[in-house]
Amino acid sequence: MNIHLAKARGFCMGVERSIGMAKEARARLDGDITILNEIVHNHSVVKNLEDQGIGRTNSIENVKNGTLIVSAHGVAPKVIENAKCRGLNVIDSTCPLVTVLHKAADYYIKRNYTVIVFGDENHDEMKGVKGHDPQKIIVLNRIDTLFDLPEIEGKVAFISQSTQSMERFEKAAELVETKYKDVQIKNTICDATRQRQASILDLAPRMDLIIVVGSQTSANSQRLAQIAQQAGTTAYLIDNAAEVKDWWLKDVKNLGITAGASTPDWVVMEVVEMIEKLASENGNGQVSVIDEKDEE
Ligand code: SF4
Repeated sequence: MNIHLAKARGFCMGVERSIGMAKEARARLDGDITILNEIVHNHSVVKNLEDQGIGRTNSIENVKNGTLIVSAHGVAPKVIENAKCRGLNVIDSTCPLVTVLHKAADYYIKRNYTVIVFGDENHDEMKGVKGHDPQKIIVLNRIDTLFDLPEIEGKVAFISQSTQSMERFEKAAELVETKYKDVQIKNTICDATRQRQASILDLAPRMDLIIVVGSQTSANSQRLAQIAQQAGTTAYLIDNAAEVKDWWLKDVKNLGITAGASTPDWVVMEVVEMIEKLASENGNGQVSVIDEKDEE
């Protein structure tokens, strides 16, 4: 069996930056340090920071003192103001590419647009963006609900969650242009997401099975699994090596592995080791690991 590791996979710049800021704060500062929401949506990363004495909360109301770290997904500007008013030392680790989305929303609102953001309304990133102006920002969860959106007088801007599927965004943008008259389209999907999606699109059709390593709460990991499935290849999203099932490997000759932008490399390597072990027990033949990063 050949295990192919996707060319673009795993940690992105924004995730590395956030985790680095949290660790640096712990090394430098005394007192409580609390992350608002999950620093990134990966259980191994969250647990690792908790083990280093960094707490976590879903509300600033629970933080009485010390340092509050804003996660890579960002928050509404008002949340940061409130935290500062409460006397907290705020470290904002919002990914700069999420900030691009905030700035785009802000730019259009100030110019009297209604902003439609294509993303998951329950995701921290979308809650933060919507917080700029809940009356003027509409979150579109799914393409098939577009025609349920209200009629809008005046200008409309259509932007995207940073981890949205490129293909779906383009399809949705076409439909938005048919529903509304005066529309500005700005694709705010980040480069890391584009690269990981392009890699899985290239890899999936050549594979018998795809395993995406990432937490169920990770929007970009979920999209990688969806893209592989749309390409016609069975795909499973798993959090860690313990979730690999030996029956998945039956008759598999080429297995592709990718990882969401919040998945550490060591978790991916544990999955590879588990597959090697199960493959040798199940008679899948000799296992070769091909890292497509090395095949430039
Ligand atoms: S996936 Fe994109 S937007 Fe999200 S943290 Fe990584 S670089 Fe930033």
